[in-house]
Amino acid sequence: MTHACRYCQKPIRDRDELVTAAKWFSIRPYHYICYDQAAREVERIGDNEKPLNNMPNTIISIIMLAVSIFFLAGSALGSIGDLLGVLTLYPPLMRILSYVRYEHPLPVFLENKR
Ligand SMILES: [Zn+2]
Repeated sequence: MTHACRYCQKPIRDRDELVTAAKWFSIRPYHYICYDQAAREVERIGDNEKPLNNMPNTIISIIMLAVSIFFLAGSALGSIGDLLGVLTLYPPLMRILSYVRYEHPLPVFLENKR
């Protein structure tokens, strides 16, 4: 299963050229080059559409998941802690969804794409 780039409508062939961007609960796939292009066009891509499948976001997601487990498993801060636990679950959840839906089905790297 391949996904079409939201910017140029052409299929994305491997993880090397894939950028997944999140806006609220929707994840949009882009080519790496198209994402850069789209990011410059402020009308097409909002400020709150952020790339998911990069190293900084992966690290943040792991930290957030640990924080989330800490609040949800324990009783720190009572109901505020529960709320924080749910809120901090959002980044890791989006990161996992991006991986399962878009990254995992694609080969890591394809040679001679063009
Ligand atoms: Zn594209």
